Amino acid sequence: MALPRRLLGNTGLEVSVLGFGASPLGGVFQEINEAEGIASVHEAFKLGINFFDTSPFYGSTKSEAVLGKGLKDLPRDKIIVSTKVGRYGQEYFDFSAERVAFSVRESLARLQIPYIDIIQCHDIEFGSLDQIISETLPALQQLKAQGLVRFVGITGLPLSALQYVLDRVPPGTVDVILSYCHYSLNDTALQDAIPYFQEKQAGIISASPLSMGLLTQQGPPEWHPAPAELKEAAAAAAACCRDQGVDLAKLALQFAVKNPSISTTLVGMCSSDVVRTNVSAVLQALGAEAVDSSSARQEKKALEEVERILAPVKDLTWASGRPES
Ligand code: NAD
Repeated sequence: MALPRRLLGNTGLEVSVLGFGASPLGGVFQEINEAEGIASVHEAFKLGINFFDTSPFYGSTKSEAVLGKGLKDLPRDKIIVSTKVGRYGQEYFDFSAERVAFSVRESLARLQIPYIDIIQCHDIEFGSLDQIISETLPALQQLKAQGLVRFVGITGLPLSALQYVLDRVPPGTVDVILSYCHYSLNDTALQDAIPYFQEKQAGIISASPLSMGLLTQQGPPEWHPAPAELKEAAAAAAACCRDQGVDLAKLALQFAVKNPSISTTLVGMCSSDVVRTNVSAVLQALGAEAVDSSSARQEKKALEEVERILAPVKDLTWASGRPES
């Protein structure tokens, strides 16, 4: 069965429930093999993934460039491509109208496409939220009018920053929001904000269902910003799964995609094997692929234990951006 799709807010876009997060294509988590990265994009499309997300920030433009090489061979009208503006380095942000207009043109060239489906202001909590409202979003509306982008979004870690902007712009200015690390086994803060985003008619994209590597057997990358307490709990959850022959990443991904109010969940991928594993996990979670009953029992038991281990650190997050956001 094909990977199910869900409508993304009012955009009319039907996105696959599992989206391709392309930050790993920029070597953000580990060095990548470019040919394998390109093949993973093709494999994702073949298995029904139609939504691809990147940013000039990921690997200092490498993610966009590699994704572009992969997308070049795919039919443009069958894929939904999103990238971002405003974040270009760990400490380098520029949300000015001039920079974002130039940025979109640079992204189009790197991605080798004539238009971007969704352009998002990247990690708005690091900029001035008032500048996003008064300057960045109007500049993106102009690019929309010129046909260079179809829809506009905002992304960030603190849900309060996304809400600050949505409270202050006319309806239809922000078509989608991207929240990350807030709908996973260890953090479901997004759940309470869903009715608010729905009322604002913003499509909901949730990213990082594996909490940026915390909820994997191999563990998070060195730079992961989680507090030690959370890292320790995630490591204990991984050990518990290992002991039972269950994959923590599978449990985490399956949890994330089951919420029908979240249109798509972006997971970071850069290899065809991982694409196949993740698509299969999602199909099983949504009842579209058969599951061996003894594995299902084992996974259910492991999930209960993982939830118990993670309960003391539930919704524990970390500071991101300017103090006021
Ligand atoms: P994630 O939670 O998806 O974890 C990605 C890590 O898990 C990578 O190391 C990946 O190789 C690994 N992984 C994926 N599937 C696996 C599996 N089955 N088993 C073991 N390991 C597996 O975190 P992410 O990549 O940060 O988030 C997904 C995507 O969402 C990003 O690539 C990006 O496109 C988007 N995103 C956007 C923002 C933002 O706009 N501010 C923030 C975070 C993520």
